[in-house]
Amino acid sequence: MYLPRSLPLWLLVVSVDTLTVQLDSISPNCQNACNTLESEFGSTALHYYGQDNFTIWDAKQLEVQYACRFEPSNKMEVAAALRVLTEAWCNFAVKCGGHSRDPDFSNSVGGVTIDLRRLNGVEVAMNESLARIGGGAVTADVYSALDARNLSFVGGRVGSVGVGGFVTGGGTSPLSSRHGWAVDNIYEYELVLPNATSVTVNEHQHPELYWALRGAGGGNFGIITSSVARTFPQGRIYAGRRTWNDTYTEQVVDEIYDLYTGQDHNTEVSADFYYGYVQAQDTFTPAGNLRYFDPINNPPVFAPIDRIPAVVSSGQISSLGDISGPGRIPATPPPARHLFQTTTTFPSREWVQGSLQIFREEIEDVKSVQGLNPQIITYTIPSRAIQGMADRGGNALGLSNVRGPLLITLLSTAWLHEGDDVRVGDFYDRVLARLEDASRQLNVYHPYKYIGYGRLREDIFSSYGADNREKLVQVQESVDPKGIFTSGGLCRGGFKLR
Ligand SMILES: Cc1cc2nc3c(=O)[nH]c(=O)nc-3n(C[C@H](O)[C@H](O)[C@H](O)COP(=O)(O)OP(=O)(O)OC[C@H]3O[C@@H](n4cnc5c(N)ncnc54)[C@H](O)[C@@H]3O)c2cc1C
Repeated sequence: MYLPRSLPLWLLVVSVDTLTVQLDSISPNCQNACNTLESEFGSTALHYYGQDNFTIWDAKQLEVQYACRFEPSNKMEVAAALRVLTEAWCNFAVKCGGHSRDPDFSNSVGGVTIDLRRLNGVEVAMNESLARIGGGAVTADVYSALDARNLSFVGGRVGSVGVGGFVTGGGTSPLSSRHGWAVDNIYEYELVLPNATSVTVNEHQHPELYWALRGAGGGNFGIITSSVARTFPQGRIYAGRRTWNDTYTEQVVDEIYDLYTGQDHNTEVSADFYYGYVQAQDTFTPAGNLRYFDPINNPPVFAPIDRIPAVVSSGQISSLGDISGPGRIPATPPPARHLFQTTTTFPSREWVQGSLQIFREEIEDVKSVQGLNPQIITYTIPSRAIQGMADRGGNALGLSNVRGPLLITLLSTAWLHEGDDVRVGDFYDRVLARLEDASRQLNVYHPYKYIGYGRLREDIFSSYGADNREKLVQVQESVDPKGIFTSGGLCRGGFKLR
């Protein structure tokens, strides 16, 4: 038994002024909850703000002062923590990879951050067609476990992105033209419900919850302690990166567009297009990530785009794990502030070209923002992925009847100082409004907004269709009658159904 401290040590050593502010910001309920958690699980599982060596992807989330951060080791500890928090009535947030962009999403404002990092195991089934993935695993954990067996799963592009957010929101992968989206490749979730009991959720057990979990993102129905993902044979691949001079942008978009629309027939191929403003040189740079899922150097399918002279052209035969990078975010340099915003369209060459012109025009107003790194990123939701959205009872995204492919566009930016938050936010509001006007005019607008790239104030769930939204709310009410995982409850951050 560990003796709880009545107050975290850091509160006792700061100045009187600071102490007032900090004591005010941490409620007695949460101080009690932290003490109880420390008493039950020991000091190695509990970390207090100010004494903690903790980092998270976004600076706005890193600035958050939590009461304590708890690292459960298994699903029983997750359930016990939920019981402690609801009994003490202390607010909390659940963190997996921590790639959210707003406070309280996955780092708790004044409450307890339940950091699932110890739940990062990956167990491959005997027949190698399934893997159970811990609810706190990041993409790199899974790729590295599977790469070693020449297997893979529908994972993301960046190793440090959490599987928790990815396998509940949607999960677009370079492999999506072949295997669909991540949510449609999850056969089962282990979920600790808001009442602190653990359930297995799949097509046959709690099917409505299974439908809802696949699309509503984390943070609405409880805490996922593991998920079972489909795995498949996958060896090394060709991974290429090109950057071009802006004078070639129109040609590059033309070629990328052909790759996008060809993906439905050539499922070996994946192409992501990036168009960024490079502040240091006051220029725009088009870039492409080109992947071919066989270990062939310079695959012929990329010959047309490679006729455009590139500034940088690299390619390697590599594993998905190696190209997605490390799993843990280094503490230095300190993270920047980030904003994501997104729109969806039917494919239109004209719209993609026009979107870049809008981006170029609007950037003028924010060019002086310190550390600005804005990009417009586009890739497809391949038809194969859309068809897969009807599998096993379907998912909540409302796309399964759409004739694909669709294009997802992500507006992503980073900057350094809080003083520029509003300016950057307004900039992307203007860009997004113009992009959506343009897609409506060209008759290629689609209302869907991918939650993984969503901006907090957007009504993501309405973009799934009114019926799906209504059904999601009903499922949420049925599993969470006390509203623990709602905006007025204890787990308040993030995209909430109510
Ligand atoms: C650099 C970068 C690259 C990306 N690349 C891709 C990509 O290739 N494809 C793609 O589809 N998306 C991508 N995304 C978007 C990403 O999938 C979402 O932002 C996702 O929500 C991140 O999940 P996380 O676990 O890292 O974040 P977190 O902030 O930890 O979690 C996101 C939300 O889910 C909740 N949550 C997390 N785990 C659990 C759990 N186990 N149980 C219950 N709730 C949970 C959290 O409480 C939070 O509300 C990328 C994002 C970034 C920043």
